[in-house]
Amino acid sequence: MKDKPRILVTGAGGFIGHHLVRRLKDDGLWVRGADIKLADFDTSPADDFALLDLRLWENCLKATKDIDQVYNLAADMGGIGYITANHADISRNNILINTHMLDASRLNGVQRFLFSSSACVYPQYKQKDPDVTPLKESDAIPADPEPGYGWEKLFAEELCRYYKKDYGLETRIVRFHNVYGPLGTYDGGKEKAPAAISRKVALAEDGGDIEVWGDGEQTRSFMYVDDCVEGLVRLMASDCAEPLNLGTDRLVTINELINLVSDVAGKKLEKRHDLSKPQGVRGRNSDNTLLNQVLGWEPTIQLEDGLKITYRWIESELRKTGQLPAVEAGHATR
Ligand code: NAD
Repeated sequence: MKDKPRILVTGAGGFIGHHLVRRLKDDGLWVRGADIKLADFDTSPADDFALLDLRLWENCLKATKDIDQVYNLAADMGGIGYITANHADISRNNILINTHMLDASRLNGVQRFLFSSSACVYPQYKQKDPDVTPLKESDAIPADPEPGYGWEKLFAEELCRYYKKDYGLETRIVRFHNVYGPLGTYDGGKEKAPAAISRKVALAEDGGDIEVWGDGEQTRSFMYVDDCVEGLVRLMASDCAEPLNLGTDRLVTINELINLVSDVAGKKLEKRHDLSKPQGVRGRNSDNTLLNQVLGWEPTIQLEDGLKITYRWIESELRKTGQLPAVEAGHATR
C-alpha cells in the first residue's frame, strides 16, 4: 500500500460518514465520498463526491476505482420506528449495497474494507432486562437479531469473513452502539433517540410535556460521534478482522436521557409515555473488553458533554427552519 492510502467513504452524505470524511481530510488523506444524496447540513470536505446509488453493481465499481481503503457506511437505516416498519426495503437495499460493494472492492484491488455493522445483530433473548449484561462480540451467535436490519447486518458480517477467507480481502467489522451528535437527522422519521428527544425538548414549552416511546425504562448506551470516528480510524489501522463493539458502556434509561437533555435546555418537562410505540429491545449495553484489548482505547466523551453540543445544534437548526423563533439581537442563548 502507498504511504497515504486513497480512501472511499460510502454514506458520506450521512451522519457518521460526513464526520469521518472531515476527520480523514484533517489527517491529510485523499478522500472520495459516495452517497445517493449530498450531505444534508454542510458541504462535504471530500476531494471527490460521487452521487451514486450503491445498490447498483456498476456504481460500486465506479466508487471503488483507484481506491485503497473503503469505509462502507452507506445503508438504509433509521431509528426504531423506521427499522420496525420497513423490514423488506431495508433488507433488500442493504444486502444489495454490501454485496456489490464487497465484490467491486475485490475486483478493483481495494486493500482494506471496513463494514459498519450494528449492535442490532445481538440476540433479542439476551436483551430482555433493562439491567442487561453488556454484550460481548461472541454473544451474536446463536443468532436471534433484530428482524430485518439486524439479520442483514449479521449476514453482511459473514460475507466479509467469506471474502477474507476466499479472496484475501482484508475486512474490518465494527458494531456501533447508538451514535449521536450534530449534523445527524433529527426529524422526518429516520432520527434516533438522542436527536428525537433533543428536538422534542427544544420544541416543548418549559413546564409542558413530551411524548416518550414506551415506558422510558428501556436502557441503551450512547457514543458521541467524535469518539465513533476515532474508533473507526483506529480499527481500520488495526489487525482485527473479527467483529468489534464500538460504543460506550454507560447504561442509561430513556427517561434518564430525557432528564439529561432537559437539564441542558434548562426546562422542566412531564413525560407522556406512549406504550403503543415501538421501543426495541428492553436493554442493550456494550462490553468493551475486546475493544480495549484490540485498540488500547475506548470512547471517552461524557454523555453530558456530547448532549450539550447536540442539543445546541438541533436547537439552532430549529431556529434556522423557523420551527423555533429566531433569537433576538442582544439576547444571549442559554
Ligand atoms: P445515515 O442514514 O445518516 O447515513 C447513511 C447514508 O447512506 C445516508 O446518507 C444515505 O443516503 C446513504 N445511502 C442509503 N442508501 C444508499 C444507496 N442506495 N446508495 C448510496 N448511499 C446510500 O446513517 P449513519 O448514522 O451515518 O450510519 C452509518 C452506518 O452506521 C450505517 O451502515 C448504519 O447502519 C451504521 N450504524 C449506525 C448507528 C448509529 O447510531 N448512527 C448504529 C448502528 C449502526
